[in-house]
Amino acid sequence: MERLAIKGGYPVRGGKIYYGRQWIDDIDVEAVVETLRSDFITCGPKVDEMERSLEDFMGAKYAVAVSNGTAALHCACIAAGIGEGDEVITTPLTFAASANCVIYCGGKPVFADVNPETYNIDPRSVEERITDRTKAVIAVDFTGQAVEFDAIRKICDEHNLVLIEDAAHSLGTKYKGKQVGSLADMTTFSFHPVKTITGGEGGAITTNDETLYKRLVLAHSHGITRDKDLMEEPEHEGPWCYEQISLGYNYRITDFQAALIVSQMKKLDMFVARRKAIVTKYNDAFKNIPEIIIQKDIPDSDTCRHLYIIRLDLDRLTCTRREFFDAMSAENIQCQIHYVPVYWFPFYQRLGYEKGLCPIAEEVYKGIMSIPLYPKMTDQDVEDVIHAIKKIVDNYKR
Ligand SMILES: *Cc1c(COP(=O)(O)O)cnc(C)c1O
Repeated sequence: MERLAIKGGYPVRGGKIYYGRQWIDDIDVEAVVETLRSDFITCGPKVDEMERSLEDFMGAKYAVAVSNGTAALHCACIAAGIGEGDEVITTPLTFAASANCVIYCGGKPVFADVNPETYNIDPRSVEERITDRTKAVIAVDFTGQAVEFDAIRKICDEHNLVLIEDAAHSLGTKYKGKQVGSLADMTTFSFHPVKTITGGEGGAITTNDETLYKRLVLAHSHGITRDKDLMEEPEHEGPWCYEQISLGYNYRITDFQAALIVSQMKKLDMFVARRKAIVTKYNDAFKNIPEIIIQKDIPDSDTCRHLYIIRLDLDRLTCTRREFFDAMSAENIQCQIHYVPVYWFPFYQRLGYEKGLCPIAEEVYKGIMSIPLYPKMTDQDVEDVIHAIKKIVDNYKR
């Protein structure tokens, strides 16, 4: 048996790799520099180009580019009309922003439990948590796998709820042949460097609904409009006039970030293919290791994974998840945990959320670990990750 690096053996590799990272090449750099040298570095043509590029790719009618994925979620909640006392159902296995955006609007996040095998929000649990105050569902495509969309859509239609899809993980994923971004009432994206494409920071919302689109545009730019149809007194002071007709924010993105995102969009098909290839290698490697549980596929989702999550069967191992994680670090493979259930955080505990709310999510959380997955990984990097996992399992299996 190979000696673990954490016990003084040689690590499987020299340099450290992380669970995710961007791919920026000279073409991307050129695109940014060119925009920096142009007349517009914000509110210019690159933002328009980014929006059109997202619409084309997804087959969505409208896209609104914003400063980050959290702003996208906030704008979506505003457009959905979330206000004081409204309840919005989401998953606890997500980044905190998926729930925080509801609180920004004075609403209350309600957490539904997840499917024990796919880890995505469970439609049956969503239905159970609906009350008279429920206004919307924020369904997160966890790890990139599309939620059970048809089931959730049906529930939302029956109860007159707005369906927001948090697709921060799932750019490039298709559900029943349709791109994520063309399905829900509103779909939000993030372009943080660990996500499928990046603008450094950046986000977007897509929708097919003109009314929602107009609200999104207002929300992301101070509630200010020059649209004569929306203005109350279009010619009041003169042709220079604009009006603030609602309360909005400054969630605009710069043109040089938009230029980077437009450039990255041209690599998206390649990124998707590479991510899928790595996922296949991992699945093949782990399917015969009973100590490692593989995330189950949702058949209707043709998935571009953002995260590859292994789940440790801790009953078959003599180590804790923490010891496994530390052993991976010592082998120079830096994993991450996605996610601590949102309502476990002190902020949510102070609001009165109690542990035990979503027992399946909490159980899943105890064993999960995200291993490196990003298109820049070489085949050798992938082999190193597999090697490290096998080595650690060998050392700790019962
Ligand atoms: C990254 C992420 C966000 C937030 O995106 P930012 O661009 O970092 O604000 C929201 N939801 C999920 C599920 C995410 O992973």
